[in-house]
Amino acid sequence: MPRIAYVNGRYVAHADAAVHIEDRGYQFADGVYEVCEVARGFIVDMPRHLGRLGRSLSELSIAWPVSRGVMPLLMREVVRRNHVTTGLVYLQVTRGVASRDFLFPPAGTPSSLVITARKADPAAQAKRAAAGIRIITVPENRWDRVDIKSVGLLPNVLAKQKAKEAGAQEAWFVDADGMVTEGGSSNAWIITMDGVLVTRPAEHGILRGITRTTLFDVAAKLGLRIEERHFSVAEAKAAREAFISSATTIAMPVVAIDGDPVANGHPGSVTLSLRQAFFDVAEKSPA
Ligand code: PMP
Repeated sequence: MPRIAYVNGRYVAHADAAVHIEDRGYQFADGVYEVCEVARGFIVDMPRHLGRLGRSLSELSIAWPVSRGVMPLLMREVVRRNHVTTGLVYLQVTRGVASRDFLFPPAGTPSSLVITARKADPAAQAKRAAAGIRIITVPENRWDRVDIKSVGLLPNVLAKQKAKEAGAQEAWFVDADGMVTEGGSSNAWIITMDGVLVTRPAEHGILRGITRTTLFDVAAKLGLRIEERHFSVAEAKAAREAFISSATTIAMPVVAIDGDPVANGHPGSVTLSLRQAFFDVAEKSPA
């Protein structure tokens, strides 16, 4: 079945979907994006994702390409046209098309909007969660506005590629003080011996993950305590459990860090219970 993409007001065959060569996303990574999970026929936490998109756009003074109210309709339509019931919907907004110049384009230049949707295999994710993932650590080398969900992801690309080459599935960035910031495409968590969830405060050093935010609600429901504080690689290695969170991985157990096992090297039970309870708590918008 041919895939369909939404590109600047048109639904086009995915294979032929294209933006102009002078799109500022292409030339300057001058754009932002969101990824929402699609599960059981619902778009997960869409209002929160659109709220964060609005913040990213306003931090960079990029105009909404269509009104915020129209966005869910477009996302739903792309999901529907691609028959996705499990997978993800991706959207990207850039500052638009203009003759290459570092300065912002003339006022009134429309921002660009691309939306795609892709199916995923739920069994593959479940299998991964049952096995847990391995991570490596890499020095933090990104700019200090990673709270903006920008498409400028080169350090993340390099870190995740390095992880893959080391037989791992994610990389954690570590700041100059030896403290974990976040993953290449996920937030980082540990669970202490006392059963307390620990994750870095969502200041400018990390992206405020939507899954992270919803996991606060899940933890409250399960009666688990969360501490927002910095933690080191050493503390993570000695923790009872470690996990990552993102829209596409939910809560995914980490079983090894730089080749050293976390606890007994098996997925932790608290992480799996967070994962299990997630969809009961997350907001589900019909796709
Ligand atoms: N941090 C980074 C750097 C990410 O790329 C992502 C995934 N987009 C996250 C955290 C997790 O965010 P979310 O839960 O909204 O997917």
